[in-house]
Amino acid sequence: MLRYHIWTIGCQMNRAESRRIAGYLQSAGGQPATHLSDADLVVLNTCVVRQSAENKVLGTLGLLRGLKSKRSDLRVLVTGCFVGSDDDLAGRFPEVDFSFRPGDYEGFVAWCKRQGMSLERASLQRAASPCAFVPIIQGCDNFCSYCVVPYRRGREVSRPVEDVVCEVQGMARQGIREVTLLGQNVDSYGHDLPGHPDLADLLTELNRIDELARIRFLTNHPKAISLKLIDTVACSDRVCEHIELPVQSGDDDILKAMGRGYTVERYIELVNTIRRRIPEVSLSTDIIVGFPGETDEQFGHTYSLIESLRFDVVHVAAYSPRPDTEAAREYRDDVPQAIKKERLARIEALQAGIASDINARLQGRPVEILVEGQKKGKWFGRTRSDKLVFFAARGDWAGRLAEIRIGRTSPWSLGGEVSDK
Ligand code: SF4
Repeated sequence: MLRYHIWTIGCQMNRAESRRIAGYLQSAGGQPATHLSDADLVVLNTCVVRQSAENKVLGTLGLLRGLKSKRSDLRVLVTGCFVGSDDDLAGRFPEVDFSFRPGDYEGFVAWCKRQGMSLERASLQRAASPCAFVPIIQGCDNFCSYCVVPYRRGREVSRPVEDVVCEVQGMARQGIREVTLLGQNVDSYGHDLPGHPDLADLLTELNRIDELARIRFLTNHPKAISLKLIDTVACSDRVCEHIELPVQSGDDDILKAMGRGYTVERYIELVNTIRRRIPEVSLSTDIIVGFPGETDEQFGHTYSLIESLRFDVVHVAAYSPRPDTEAAREYRDDVPQAIKKERLARIEALQAGIASDINARLQGRPVEILVEGQKKGKWFGRTRSDKLVFFAARGDWAGRLAEIRIGRTSPWSLGGEVSDK
């Protein structure tokens, strides 16, 4: 029996792809090993969006090099963004037997077959959670100046609508209640397909699947999100009122240097439109601090924007130059590490206060959550607006929609009891 271990870091796209790889390996009779040292086959699903993630990949490869020197039958595969378009990883890292680009299941299956494994079509793993991720578009054509994704994941390739609908129907029949559609830029979905369907069209199709309770999607791009999509979210009962709209900076010159394709004014207009058309919407954003040349004043513009727009969630990261990117080639990484850290901490502190205020408004109110599982003896799930809620109750609540009356709030999560209405 083949024992495999899939080591995954990075975004939800990687997690979704790892689940698919596991499905293939299980179809060949493979069983998951709890640790990579117990496995016959290790798949590293990697991320290089930040230097810290790349360092973890290099560290794990080093560990595998040691294991392989003792067990020559161990097989090591690498996928994810560490694999470049023309990278000869197996040449550079002798411990690697094979590498394949993210989403290249054909290459992966062909390699497995050469090793004598008979893989079927990826069977859906019986999920421990009622929520699943579904990639709908691979790659990115935007080439934001700091981002390595287009170099590693290649140009945009959408999955046909029928393919996605068929997969989600299958998932729903197997007990999945919530799907999150994934893409680096979901607003580009469909431009490369015959008839040019878009994300709104796909959501309309998926909204007809009765067994499904909820549909989410990420990530949007402020320069590409359409009014049609916003209105589809507003009027489709299964589509959750949650939009992830990365702004990255609150300063026009920095946005220009990042190659983002919108101004701060345009972004604010967009947020106002979304909030007008979807009154219950929760909004998340991403920020990069310490982009080359970012002055205190420019950082101040970002700080003020976060202060005034009051997002539900802000993900903040310090800039780190990535190989091949325009920013790494053209600009000097001149903001000292200590300043980057300080700016990052200031945004985090600001956002903790804002999220605390927003969540406190739910105190005493009932919210509907989809229960995902248990942690430390408590059930947990998320609201349609993507807020994490814990509650204690007897019985099996997994996969159920539950109404919880909120009794405790914090910037990060909420707690409550099952509401007796
Ligand atoms: S939209 Fe920009 S930041 Fe997002 S994946 Fe594409 S290039 Fe990277």
